[in-house]
Amino acid sequence: MMDQSGHGILWILSAPSGAGKTSLARALVAATSRLRDSVSYTTRLPRPGEVDGADYHFVSPAIFAGMADSGDFLEHARVHGNDYGTSEQWVKDQLLAGIDCLLEIDWQGARQVRERLPGQAVSIFILPPSLEALEARLRDRGQDSDAVIHRRLAAARDELLHYDEYDYLVVNDHFDRALADLKAVIHAEHLRAVHQRQVLQGRLRALLGL
Ligand code: GDP
Ligand code: ADP
Ligand code: 5GP
Repeated sequence: MMDQSGHGILWILSAPSGAGKTSLARALVAATSRLRDSVSYTTRLPRPGEVDGADYHFVSPAIFAGMADSGDFLEHARVHGNDYGTSEQWVKDQLLAGIDCLLEIDWQGARQVRERLPGQAVSIFILPPSLEALEARLRDRGQDSDAVIHRRLAAARDELLHYDEYDYLVVNDHFDRALADLKAVIHAEHLRAVHQRQVLQGRLRALLGL
C-alpha cells in the first residue's frame, strides 16, 4: 500500500447529500494551490449538466464490479442505491507528486480509507445548518426527482450519525464562512511539524549548521 509520508495530504470530505460538499470542494480547489479533487467512479446516471470524466467517471455496474474485483479502488461503497469508488492509482500519483487530494466520499468510504491508511488521511464533516435547510437546498438544486430527494433526506441521519469519526466539523450555513473554515484547516494542517519537517529540511539544516 502507498506510503504517503513526506508527500501530499489526503483529505476526506463527507456530508449528507445537499449539505454543500460539492460546491465547497469546487471553491476550495479553485482557491488552493496543489490541491485536486478526486473524480470518483459511479454507477449513478449523470444529472443534467454533469460531465463524464469531470464530475464523475460514469460507468456501468459490470465495469464497476470488474474494477472492484481487480482492486482498482482505494475504497468503494454503495450509497443511495448506487456504487461509488475512488481510484487508488490516481490518488497515489497525486500524493507522490506532492499534491493534496480531496475525496468527497461517504462515511463508509471514509472508514475504509482510515483502515487502509491509518493516521494518514485528515477528515472533515460538513454539517448543514438545519434539516429544513438541507431539504430546501436539495429542492432548489432542482436536479433530483421527488423520490430521490426523499431517499437522500431519509439517508441524511445515517450519514450525520457518523460525525464523531471525523477530525474536523464545519457548518455550511454561510457559504463564504464555511469556505474560510476549510481553508484555515488546510493551512494549519500543512504547518504541522510532520509536514514542515520535510518542507523545511534545507532551512533546518542551515539553521542548525549541519
Ligand atoms: P451528492 O451527495 O448530492 O453530491 O450526490 P452524489 O450522487 O454525487 O453522491 C452521493 C454520495 O456518494 C455523496 O454523499 C458522496 O459522499 C458519496 N460518494 C461520491 N463519490 C464517492 C466515492 O468515490 N466513494 C464513496 N465511498 N462515496 C462516494
Ligand atoms: P452536496 O454535494 O453535498 O450534495 P451541493 O454542493 O450540490 O451539495 O449543494 C446543494 C445545493 O445547496 C446546491 O444547489 C448549492 O448551490 C447550495 N448551497 C451550497 N452551500 C450553500 C449555502 N451555504 N447556502 C445556501 N445554499 C447552498
Ligand atoms: P460558488 O462556489 O459558485 O460561490 O457557490 C456554489 C453555490 O452555492 C451557488 O450556486 C450559490 O447559489 C450557493 N452559495 C454560495 N454562497 C452562498 C451563500 O453565502 N449563501 C447562499 N444562500 N448560497 C450560496
